[in-house]
Amino acid sequence: MNIAVSVPLIIQDLPDGPLALPAKKDVHHAVWQLLESVTDPEIPVLSLREIGVLRAVRSSSEGLQVFITPTYSGCPAMEQMQDDVRQCLEVAGFQAKVITCLSPAWSSDWMTSEAKAKLLAYGIAPPHSRPSHTENSRVQWMKPSSFLKVACPQCGSDNTTETSHFGSTACKAMFTCLACMEPFDYFKPY
Ligand SMILES: [Zn+2]
Repeated sequence: MNIAVSVPLIIQDLPDGPLALPAKKDVHHAVWQLLESVTDPEIPVLSLREIGVLRAVRSSSEGLQVFITPTYSGCPAMEQMQDDVRQCLEVAGFQAKVITCLSPAWSSDWMTSEAKAKLLAYGIAPPHSRPSHTENSRVQWMKPSSFLKVACPQCGSDNTTETSHFGSTACKAMFTCLACMEPFDYFKPY
């Protein structure tokens, strides 16, 4: 049964984030370590921590809680991520409630630099940094990526063109390299 709930939650005040593992050898550290093996269902070379989806681990009177934020609110992989997190911890003897946080919205700036390098090696052009963190970030996300210079992951040329604003998933755009003629996905910044 899916026990995850979806709540808006402000988590800026939570000390551990997606970019670093807690140093202390406590249960939270163990959980973060275990969850290193849980990868993005659509991009199996990236862990949920590296892509910035895994946000925090907490203990509460109701037990262990794991907070995740989808890359976008309608992400079809969300249930899969919740199940994967729960199963990974159950196998190790942890009962955890997976809580989906929609606020603040996920940002591609939460992706680690390591994750961006792995994306590139996987053949997906990593997202550019957002121009600024403003309330209009959703509008910026819609800015045509054809205005951006996106380097080809195959040959490195920036002589590329956007052929579709939506690639294999809604969070990616389809590009074609005009140098080597290979099509590739670009992970859109937002
Ligand atoms: Zn190319």
